[in-house]
Amino acid sequence: MKRFLGGLLAACALAIGGAEAQPRDPFDLQAMSGAERTAFLRAMPKGGDLHLHLAGSAYPETYLQWAIEDGVCIDPAALSLAPPPCSAPLRPASDALSDNGLWSRMLDSLSTRQPGFADRSGHDQFFTAFDRFGATDPKRAGDMLADVMQRMAIQNTWYVEVMVTPQSRESRAVGRAIGWKGDMRAQAAAGRAQLEALVPGAIAQTDALEARARDVLGCATPHPAAGCQVTVRYLVQSNRLVPLQETFAQLQLGVALIARDHRWVGLQLVAPEDHPSAIRNYAAHMQMVGFLSDHGRKARVALHAGELTPAFATPGDLSFHIASAVRDAGASRIGHGVDLAYEDGAAGLVREMAERGVMVEVNLTSNAVILGVSGDDHPWRWLRSANVPFALSTDDPGISRSELSQEYARGAGEGMTYADLRRSARNALAFSFLAGESLWTDAPRYERATAACAADLGRPEPSRACAAFLARSDKAREQFRFEARLAAFEASVR
Ligand SMILES: [Zn+2]
Repeated sequence: MKRFLGGLLAACALAIGGAEAQPRDPFDLQAMSGAERTAFLRAMPKGGDLHLHLAGSAYPETYLQWAIEDGVCIDPAALSLAPPPCSAPLRPASDALSDNGLWSRMLDSLSTRQPGFADRSGHDQFFTAFDRFGATDPKRAGDMLADVMQRMAIQNTWYVEVMVTPQSRESRAVGRAIGWKGDMRAQAAAGRAQLEALVPGAIAQTDALEARARDVLGCATPHPAAGCQVTVRYLVQSNRLVPLQETFAQLQLGVALIARDHRWVGLQLVAPEDHPSAIRNYAAHMQMVGFLSDHGRKARVALHAGELTPAFATPGDLSFHIASAVRDAGASRIGHGVDLAYEDGAAGLVREMAERGVMVEVNLTSNAVILGVSGDDHPWRWLRSANVPFALSTDDPGISRSELSQEYARGAGEGMTYADLRRSARNALAFSFLAGESLWTDAPRYERATAACAADLGRPEPSRACAAFLARSDKAREQFRFEARLAAFEASVR
């Protein structure tokens, strides 16, 4: 890659303006063509992806391949996967291999690559896609994780926080049986024993997920795939559309699981924020998360908040979601935050987020496709100028057909500089929910590293003092690895 990029950059510098041309700054993304930026940012280490739903990570081609192997069917009218047996009008998924029209329509149906497909808005096409691949065999979750890990590795990115719902049916059943007591203390007390009893099952589920992923990647063989080197942590995704008692139970199980298994690092709430049930219960959900997580002290909190525009919510509902996620729920990361401009006291909220170090997970493609927000309407420039940290992430790379590198390229296309993108990559680790002390003492500025490692940053191996520090911190270890890869990348470009 070094020779390829170096040669490409040298050739470009010569081509522009003839013999007297100054060599071009090799990190000037705006001077590159779109294609060149894509290659450059694919090679750049990007720290991590903090906002990725496992179910939305697989590409339609992959879902179809699994369907063929598992005997899952296609419903040709709904253009969805369907459970076997594949008797008419259902067709075996293998039919799509010889029916090009069906293959192509299934790719359209399971992704957002065709705007307006089936007369749906981008929002509806996106959210209904989950139903259309819902018949996938659940045992494929490990294959999905393997696919994510390998795709991260080939993009020179070695950390990911994946959103998964542990023991979903079981925890919802506990909530349903209890009903809603109208008092959170009583609610928690009523479900505690039964939800605690689900924790070993959730841990076993995680073990099985990882064992399958490592098996697919050949991690125990003499030739492990690069994806084996990717560190994975999980966020508990609870459903904001189900009755209050079921959301509460999922969150409560999540807090219990986070206390017992270091791989589970934070809470999330998912499903469309503009759905009438989500809108009706939003304030109650924020109170629940705040109560159960002790405002982020007992379990870290990242929340989808402000994934809205005036097309999807009333002015009243646009006015408080981000603020409530930060102040009531204790979120230290906000997913999307797109409706920031419509929040009451938005300027004050932005200052508060900068002061408290609340990071925004910016999902450019997702926001463009689902909400129709891009370019100057997207708040990332405002966040940058107000010193609110942000990191780019993918949301649902398989449905959106956009990897983290493409999100970085999109950011550059919208005006982000290399310095912005390097900060995004560092933010993805500094604001990750990995355990332990940070390598940096001044995130998100990144000018001061902790004393034990300050002289070692960018080197492949730490000194003894630094190694002792890294041994105590998962986060610092990932950051050290990233800084070494970043230094190697930058050296290859110069
Ligand atoms: Zn999301």
